[in-house]
Amino acid sequence: MDNNFDLVVIGAGSGGLAAAKRAASYGAKVAIVEGSLIGGTCVIRGCVPKKLMVYAANSNNNILNSEGYGLFCGDTFFNSEILLQNIKKEVFRLSEMHLNSLNKLNVKVFDGWGKFVDKNHIEITCTKTKTIINKIRGEKILISVGGKPKEFVIQGSEFLWSSNDIFKLNKFPSSLLIVGGGYIACEFACIFNNLGIEVTQVIRSKKLLNGFDTDLSTSLKETIMNAGINLICDDELSKVSKIKDGLELNFKSGLIKLADNVLIATGRVPNLSDLNLESLGLEKRGKYLKVNKYNQTNKSNIFAIGDIVDKPNLTPVAIEQGRVFADNVFGGLNRIVNYKYIPKAVFTIPELATVGLSEEEAIQKFTKEKIKIFKCKFISMSNTFKNKKSYSLLKLIVNKTDDKILGCHMFGESSSEIIQMAAVALNSGVTKKEFDMTMALHPSVSEEFVTMY
Ligand SMILES: Cc1cc2nc3c(=O)[nH]c(=O)nc-3n(C[C@H](O)[C@H](O)[C@H](O)COP(=O)(O)OP(=O)(O)OC[C@H]3O[C@@H](n4cnc5c(N)ncnc54)[C@H](O)[C@@H]3O)c2cc1C
Repeated sequence: MDNNFDLVVIGAGSGGLAAAKRAASYGAKVAIVEGSLIGGTCVIRGCVPKKLMVYAANSNNNILNSEGYGLFCGDTFFNSEILLQNIKKEVFRLSEMHLNSLNKLNVKVFDGWGKFVDKNHIEITCTKTKTIINKIRGEKILISVGGKPKEFVIQGSEFLWSSNDIFKLNKFPSSLLIVGGGYIACEFACIFNNLGIEVTQVIRSKKLLNGFDTDLSTSLKETIMNAGINLICDDELSKVSKIKDGLELNFKSGLIKLADNVLIATGRVPNLSDLNLESLGLEKRGKYLKVNKYNQTNKSNIFAIGDIVDKPNLTPVAIEQGRVFADNVFGGLNRIVNYKYIPKAVFTIPELATVGLSEEEAIQKFTKEKIKIFKCKFISMSNTFKNKKSYSLLKLIVNKTDDKILGCHMFGESSSEIIQMAAVALNSGVTKKEFDMTMALHPSVSEEFVTMY
């Protein structure tokens, strides 16, 4: 077999797949190396299976809140085994779909873990036998190996789960401690809580979702506590011991609790330890690989994208970086990724989403006097007949100097769908006056964005 390629991609996740397909579409001879299932974090153990769980949790929430509409569902029963089996099937279907499209584009797929021999050669180790099964050469190499959960070292850490373990389960536990206050921790807390599992969440500070607008994180905190999540602030898990019926959990404050399982969601780190990068002298920026605006490392033939570079670690960002890389290197274009208005969502219940600057960031950048805040908090119509009502919060941050909208934030139903479209407007430099001149769509939640004054 001819083992010489124009491009070798290490890692078939969001970024690697996008780059390999785009490069192959320009006629490049491409190989992709993957040690696990094709699809990466997003498809196999991230966005996709998580969102399917969110749909399940929202369905249960709707059922439990349906009596006001005259709908009586009797005793509902949640079988987590069915949900988890269906999710595994769907994830496998998507993985196969990606594999088929790689085959159609003549991208050669190598099953195994890749490691640098030198700046052009990659050695591939078989996932099962752990023996070296191949050595391939790439004129260009793209590293797209993604991230992994940060290690959490305490006594009893062998009993802890990471988000990866959740997607391998055959059945949900009946109680769970979640450690962390970031988006992954909050999403799982809402999923499990809304599926009837007893959830405790512990955070080191008082604030959930660091980096998000404080109004959004405060709204989420109030809502999840009302929804029955036991949120412990200013404390840390210090020791886990196995007892007869589950785990005993010790906290720094002296608190002791019991739970079936513990999910650690305290952040992710780039997955760079097993690539033999040291021998190449690739420069780093903190924990990330250092790249220029074209995602090129300090070795001119080696590029890096996705969760291993210091940019928002999100699927659409990895995909765009992969496509831009291929357009530039194999398509003769000169593009750079636009990082200016990246919309973000947190799929809690209800969800929240954001684009642009938070109030805190806008004050820091422009001062308090130069910005104007528009805010609207209300119970939306969909809650009218619900026993457990949750509010929506919509917020605009406007630059007083030129009337441009600097940030658009929303907590409440459908906020991810709404903020995606707001991102188009912000990216085009929309002003508050243009929002005001836009006709409202009634009755909707998002109409408040064009009627706030
Ligand atoms: C629980 C969870 C939920 C998430 N939810 C969202 C969301 O809702 N929206 C969103 O935008 N983002 C979300 N993300 C983040 C998103 O999944 C990542 O940003 C995205 O997958 C990064 O893509 P990537 O190409 O950098 O890496 P990945 O998709 O992680 O792919 C890397 C691939 O490289 C492979 N690999 C690693 N080392 C080697 C090696 N040496 N040889 C061969 N193969 C190797 C891995 O097996 C993996 O398949 C979520 C992440 C998690 C963990």
